[in-house]
Amino acid sequence: MKILHITPELAPWSKAGGLGDATAALAKAQGALGHDVKAVTPLYGSVPGREGMRVAIPSLAVGVGGPEEKAGCRVLSLQASPGFEAWFIEHHDYYGAREIYPARPDFAERAAFYARAALDACLDSGWTPDVIHCHDWTAGLVPPLLNTVLKQTALGAAATAISVHNLQHQGVAHRGIMDFLGLPGRLWQASELECLGGVNFLKGGILHAGRVITVSPTYAREILTPEFGYGLHEVVRRRESALEGILNGVDADEWNPRTDPLLPANYSSRSLKGKQACRKALTQEFGLADGPGAPPIFGVISRLWEQKGLDLAAAALASFLRDNRLRFVLLGSGDPALEDAYRALAAEFPSRCGVRIGYDHGLSHRIEAGSDFFLMPSRFEPCGLNQMYSMAYGTPPVVRATGGLADTVRPWSPGAKDATGIVFEHADLQGIEWAIGHALRLFSEPKAYRKVQVNGMRTEFSWKLSADRHLTAYRAAGARG
Ligand code: ADP
Repeated sequence: MKILHITPELAPWSKAGGLGDATAALAKAQGALGHDVKAVTPLYGSVPGREGMRVAIPSLAVGVGGPEEKAGCRVLSLQASPGFEAWFIEHHDYYGAREIYPARPDFAERAAFYARAALDACLDSGWTPDVIHCHDWTAGLVPPLLNTVLKQTALGAAATAISVHNLQHQGVAHRGIMDFLGLPGRLWQASELECLGGVNFLKGGILHAGRVITVSPTYAREILTPEFGYGLHEVVRRRESALEGILNGVDADEWNPRTDPLLPANYSSRSLKGKQACRKALTQEFGLADGPGAPPIFGVISRLWEQKGLDLAAAALASFLRDNRLRFVLLGSGDPALEDAYRALAAEFPSRCGVRIGYDHGLSHRIEAGSDFFLMPSRFEPCGLNQMYSMAYGTPPVVRATGGLADTVRPWSPGAKDATGIVFEHADLQGIEWAIGHALRLFSEPKAYRKVQVNGMRTEFSWKLSADRHLTAYRAAGARG
């Protein structure tokens, strides 16, 4: 099958969160199964390795309005892995800055441009996909374009799918974006793209795609409700018969403690000796007190936004740190107030709590390996990757029962045989305190803790399975091949 992904993030070239990992790993898994896969994404100023890229299309006219000198781009490409080619849209004005999601007044044109450029690149090169798979809001107007303006072109027969990696981010823009893309005026109504006086990109994608995919079965059910629907639950309900949840996986070439070159020592479920070395190195890196009987380390790697529940965790952690019942390390950035709250925690407990504000790929691997538990108290979590990475690294996750967290972590209770982590129900202080207390109880029973570690390390979250399920979804959307 010929598969086109349109995505704003593609790791390792660009990544703000799980989306970058997920799109790259899915495309790679599909290529490995023998499909012909391309992923189109912007060439941000921060994308490494552009010197090694091939010029696939030296000058592409893109079907958008606005000043003519801005309506063109170059397309660079590289072979990412067997069967999977990445195409980068080079446009200095739109994507020259380093940030993936800068706060700019032209954010909607930036998104609309690369999405339309992806389609024009196919038309220009004569490569006609069987399915066009859009990711999140930035690619949301692709299905409406294909159902209207581009219906009579070679792409008009392609099946479409949209993956909702996070329904909270919808992309609501001024009405002029429809003229920019040449979308017909009849789409400007509440039953179509219009939403609270603006054009809602994600709504357009959900309504017009052949298949609506979310990244876990539980999240697929949750977004049918007002609590998780962020105003779009009724739109999602209209597409319920085309909706399904497919779990992301773990790319074992990138996240594997046996081979990970970013760790101070490697290890496997047979021998966790190397994990102890990783733990020791982590305590040194953060300047934490260590020694026999030192309490377990809870790790966090996260965007610091309300979604992640880390505001509640900060309050809970303080009392455990005060009583010297745990140590804590965090890597993340986001909400300045939360950044300050964690800096303050580290300042109050310098020998038990270490905090790094920022983005650091290598450190994220070292925290996964060196921690004893991984904390994800999310209010909602479409899939979540870190809980799967932490299981692979023998670091039982402590998670709230929502979205992909509920679908991937098997809860521990005394005597449980197949548990892989700690699961709690309520997104409040008591819920997190209970969960941390429960984790400490598990840790105090070395045999039971070891069993939970090993269960997690032996659980497979395979991208091949995810790739197979996506193919079935594409066929349900009408894709041939
Ligand atoms: P989300 O996509 O909502 O951010 P996920 O758990 O699905 O959450 O994926 C987050 C991904 O981003 C993981 O690979 C995680 O390691 C990475 N990540 C998040 N914050 C940072 C950071 N500050 N430094 C390095 N990696 C980070």
